[in-house]
Amino acid sequence: MTTEFDYDLFVIGAGSGGVRAARMAASKGKKVAVAEERYLGGTCVNVGCVPKKLFVYASQFPELFHASKGYGWSGIESPSLDWATLRDNKTTEIERLNGIYNNLIDNSGADLFDGRATIAGPHLVVVNGKTYRAKVILVATGGWPYIPEFPGSEHAISSNEMFFLDALPKTAVVVGGGYIAVEFAGILNGLGVETHLIYRGPNLLKSFDREMSDKIKEGMIAKGVNVHLNTEINEITKTDGGLLNVALNNQADMAAGLVLYATGRVANTANLGLESTATVLANNGAIVVDDNFCTADPSIYALGDVIDRVQLTPVAIQEAMVLVDHLYGEGLARIDYSDIPTAVFCQPELGTVGLSEEQARAEYADIAVYVSDFKPMLQTLGGGTDRITMKLIVDTASDRVIGCHMVGEHAAEIIQGMGIALKAGATKAHFDATVGIHPSAAEEFVTMREKAR
Ligand code: NDP
Repeated sequence: MTTEFDYDLFVIGAGSGGVRAARMAASKGKKVAVAEERYLGGTCVNVGCVPKKLFVYASQFPELFHASKGYGWSGIESPSLDWATLRDNKTTEIERLNGIYNNLIDNSGADLFDGRATIAGPHLVVVNGKTYRAKVILVATGGWPYIPEFPGSEHAISSNEMFFLDALPKTAVVVGGGYIAVEFAGILNGLGVETHLIYRGPNLLKSFDREMSDKIKEGMIAKGVNVHLNTEINEITKTDGGLLNVALNNQADMAAGLVLYATGRVANTANLGLESTATVLANNGAIVVDDNFCTADPSIYALGDVIDRVQLTPVAIQEAMVLVDHLYGEGLARIDYSDIPTAVFCQPELGTVGLSEEQARAEYADIAVYVSDFKPMLQTLGGGTDRITMKLIVDTASDRVIGCHMVGEHAAEIIQGMGIALKAGATKAHFDATVGIHPSAAEEFVTMREKAR
């Protein structure tokens, strides 16, 4: 680094992508700074993936208590949940992770600034009243929940607040049909809250394989979630009793203790000072970058949710690795956004990699579809309504498996391995030649022989 600069790399935002970039750059001997105004670890650690998964675990116990009876257990006839214990234990765990992030940054040799950083022009970052010159500025400021404005929208809360509720309501309304809405509908329902999921369209999780999203809808309804499709909220008002009255476009009003809007997330680009640079924003506020994550200003890069390509933690981390290779390595690494395995931790759970049947039909001349639908073994003695559905989509011409989907228990764990198979270009013949693990649900993926379509 020339003395012209205080830092080689100044990262704004200590979330998954920003911290990975900072640590990797520091490990290559670069002088690095990270500024964070809110919490170390970003959305994922603080108000996203991690606490969400802990709540999912919590919400699954009633079904396990119920199943345990068939396995001979007794003495757990009337279990009850202490929300404050769950919430506070979760917060303690998140604080532990915040500490780990702090150590990771410290040990990497990067300087950590506790404060809001803004950009004052190319190469210039201002934090805590001081201006620093950086050869490269990396904007990794993530996203923020979006709630549309309508009469009473100020009474709605976002996923951020869900992690710190004073008490669980008796009844909750969840709005949206995407990842966060279906995940929180499952959590609330499992924790014993009467839950209404309200979505404006005809199909939940509309960007996923339709057969799979239909299975999820059926599974959620079987578990007790009230699903209202093609439904919109006109107005929310506060009643004298402290509840919220939710006026709907197509049915009677509902009273709820909480209305959660999970209606997408927007890039955190407001008031960052980007207008003092040549950086270009898309219509939705996301930062436009090229293949190397460089903005229209050569001194400014961006990655993660703030560029709104794929809003997933592991994608932000991959982007960070590619960026550091571009800036300080051989410059050969490229990010491949195809075949990204993903899971939705709704109940039943979805795991998926590759193309949906609808996408495959549009892109390939001829496909074969294999489907298996069965009852999980746990239920033979445990009872319950769950099913498991697995699906393989094969390009007939090449025999390559181009889509792999699963709804049901452990779908995320199982699909991660399938992701490697698809990345490696596995054919249906490879799947067929693989020996199953018995007894498991996963073995169905290597024993499907009959084409469904
Ligand atoms: P999504 O984009 O997944 O879903 C947003 C939903 O809100 C859609 O159903 C959309 O409907 C609906 N919506 C948007 N605007 C309005 C409106 N004005 N009125 C009513 N409904 C509206 O966003 P999420 O907030 O669920 O999640 C954000 C991102 O976070 C996800 O895309 C995902 O990338 C990531 N995430 C990943 C998780 C995981 O990996 N398990 C978990 C949670 C989040 P329509 O489809 O009709 O536009």
